[in-house]
Amino acid sequence: MAWFNKKDRGVKAEKRKNLPDGLWMRCDYCGEILYRKELERNLWTCNMCGFHFRIRSHDYVRILLDEGTFDEMDRDIQPVDMLKFKDSKKYTDRIKAYQAKTGMKEAILTGSGEIEGRKVTLAALEFSFGGGSLGSVMGEKIVRAVKYSLSTGNPFLIVCSSGGARMQEGILSLMQLAKTSVVLAQLREARIPFFSILTHPTTGGVSASFAFQGDLVIAEPKALIGFAGPRVIQQTIGQELPEGFQRSEFLLDHGMVDKIVSRKDLKSTVASLLSYFPTPHPTLSSGETRGASEKR
Ligand SMILES: [Zn+2]
Repeated sequence: MAWFNKKDRGVKAEKRKNLPDGLWMRCDYCGEILYRKELERNLWTCNMCGFHFRIRSHDYVRILLDEGTFDEMDRDIQPVDMLKFKDSKKYTDRIKAYQAKTGMKEAILTGSGEIEGRKVTLAALEFSFGGGSLGSVMGEKIVRAVKYSLSTGNPFLIVCSSGGARMQEGILSLMQLAKTSVVLAQLREARIPFFSILTHPTTGGVSASFAFQGDLVIAEPKALIGFAGPRVIQQTIGQELPEGFQRSEFLLDHGMVDKIVSRKDLKSTVASLLSYFPTPHPTLSSGETRGASEKR
């Protein structure tokens, strides 16, 4: 009834527009209305249900790495429209729009840094750049980052958040699944630790490749993780899906995820888990790694 009362008192829409924007946010998981400042203080996690809101790749650099240690690599490699692809928009226009929106050249950030004094290579996917989709440049940047780990012996960490393969690059995008898997196998042979951190959401081609290839697969609470969406699966198998299907907790119960870690404990947990692994020896000479030589 309040709405009618306001209308009767002649409150105009223009007045409402002056209210500060984005002060409150609704939790995607439990629907609770949350105070934005409080959310920010909680590292963007819901204090009612523990859902972890999506954050930027740069935020993970701040959360995971020791301050001032991050050294970004290959910042300026950007996608090329090899197939001259056009749907409702040209792919080149989409790339320009994503770049303007995020200030990044591609949907991934890679670099080296330290976690509690231990050197690591970190890659973090950027969902706000085209849904964190896996294209040729993302694949190449992952390969270079992994090769840097091979040349230095630094453990490799990747924070995943993606809708899957980048359809505008067609088969070139799907090839990245194999391309990244090859270097990650070399990492395994060299006994260099690789942790994969799955955040909301990690789906499609990314979940079908590097996301689940980590020596340890860590997930943030209540993240949506899976290959195909629940609706497609339900239609295919003709059955109701169990509650909590494709969420971190369900995957942990079914052995797909090793550990669920809250964002505020992420750095200390990763640091402690890394301490179980001995410092490996580098296996590539620096001349073999383009990633290392092109560090910026
Ligand atoms: Zn919530």
